[in-house]
Amino acid sequence: MHKDLQRILLDESEIRAAIERVAGEVTAEFEGRAFTVVSVLKGSILFVADLIRHIPIQLELAFVGASSYRESTVSGELSIEMLPADGEIEGREILLIDDILDTGRTLSRLSEELHRRGAASVKTCVFLDKPSRRAVAMQADWRCFEVEDEFVVGYGLDYAGRYRNLPFVAVLKPQLLLADGVETAPGLGGRGAR
Ligand code: 5GP
Ligand code: MG
Repeated sequence: MHKDLQRILLDESEIRAAIERVAGEVTAEFEGRAFTVVSVLKGSILFVADLIRHIPIQLELAFVGASSYRESTVSGELSIEMLPADGEIEGREILLIDDILDTGRTLSRLSEELHRRGAASVKTCVFLDKPSRRAVAMQADWRCFEVEDEFVVGYGLDYAGRYRNLPFVAVLKPQLLLADGVETAPGLGGRGAR
């Protein structure tokens, strides 16, 4: 295990099993209907890449970039950096996918925006769900795992841009977050960097 990690929370085989389960449910939902997977960059790319391989029906793939300013204490103002072209959204059934549902702000803002741009429907799917941190009413239609309020990395999730390439989900050593001056990371009593 990597020297910065305290423990592995979800290993590769657990992840694979959860993805197969969710992919089966998504396939049953969208069977026979054209739909577009919208992947929220950057955190969801490993999840999306693995999930869609287990969805053996027709789909299109698009990306959206979103980031919020959690470091700056007050509730994250979300900036949407890149949206699919209108033609990829208008009249389409969308499956919006993110790495983790935390306060809920990112997914609720993005799904509002997709509706505003004429999506026929927007369903949501997340790899991880941290319900204890919710600040706005938002539930994902599908999730792989529910997790406690602690800061996790790996399988797409980063800390200061690193650790996305770990093939599992892990908890960082707390002293590492503190050493970097992020006293406010989730799991350490407040809001934090993403
Ligand atoms: P929300 O808008 O739901 O608060 O934020 C979702 C985003 O917060 C995720 O896409 C992710 O970037 C970040 N985030 C929330 N909790 C964690 C965590 O435990 N670890 C990491 N690496 N990012 C997190
Ligand atoms: Mg993210």
